[in-house]
Amino acid sequence: MTHSAQLIDGKSISAAVMDDIAAQVAKLDKKPTLAVILVGDDPASHVYVGNKIKACAKTGIQSIEKRLSETATNDDIAAVITDLNANPDVHGILLQLPLPQGLDSDRLIQMISPDKDVDGLTILNVGKLVAGLDGMVPCTPQGSLMLIKSVKQDLSGLHAVVIGRSLLFGKPMAQLLLSENCTVTTAHSKTRNLAEVCKAADIVVAAVGRPKMVKGDWIKEGAIVIDVGINRLDTGKLCGDVDFNEVSEVAGYITPVPGGVGPMTIACLMVNTLKAYNSFHKS
Ligand code: NAP
Repeated sequence: MTHSAQLIDGKSISAAVMDDIAAQVAKLDKKPTLAVILVGDDPASHVYVGNKIKACAKTGIQSIEKRLSETATNDDIAAVITDLNANPDVHGILLQLPLPQGLDSDRLIQMISPDKDVDGLTILNVGKLVAGLDGMVPCTPQGSLMLIKSVKQDLSGLHAVVIGRSLLFGKPMAQLLLSENCTVTTAHSKTRNLAEVCKAADIVVAAVGRPKMVKGDWIKEGAIVIDVGINRLDTGKLCGDVDFNEVSEVAGYITPVPGGVGPMTIACLMVNTLKAYNSFHKS
């Protein structure tokens, strides 16, 4: 009989997170509000923003969409961020990335008030994560950790390999696993013998952007495999960075694409918006 990994169902786990947020929001007098800034005409960004707005509606969080044209300047976007920062009725601000070419996304992200930075990308929130302080944790790594913990609560002493070192995902993911007492290896494009590095891991998290790169013979039997990649094949189908068919014959647990990490990202955006609201109302 061939082995088959247990599926980690991001859809149902994210639905439970969303229900929990909705229940908490329902008890509040005033509603948390998320502002999403969308610049230009990128079709994928429009879909992502649409999904975020839908998730707000489902959880009872209010949303404001600020749309700017493809020709918007850094100053135009900066003015919107400044207004939203100053607005006490706005608790979370999200600048949808990527911005059209020529715009300075790094500078603009850093303008977002750290208290409202629901993507966790401002330097203060990055620093808090590294320092082990309570702050805004980026949504995709936060959701990926929830998926891992849905199948194994105590990660202490496990060897985790994160493939990818972006500020958006790889670095915060490694930091979260370190705070769970994993022994963490961060792999990237210069890593030698990546297959061997992965083979030693109890947890492999792949966030590269290369379809089906992680193969079955890279994985230790029984390992937890989290596939963050979203790649569109020529056929139009979505696939992850993990060769699902091969890896699911070896791994203990695996996330599908779609239906794994993706829905967790949106659920964690709701978590962060409620968190921003709660800290605003505490102070
Ligand atoms: P990124 O900024 O492009 O980073 C990719 C990382 O992969 C880099 O650190 C790069 O190494 C590394 N890499 C590239 N080729 C490699 C190779 N051959 N071997 C090992 N490492 C390699 O991408 P990202 O923003 O982190 O996103 C990664 C993937 O996750 C993408 O497919 C993206 O669509 C997906 N994603 C999904 C969600 C979600 O909600 N599910 C959210 C965010 C991202 P260097 O640093 O050396 O260049």
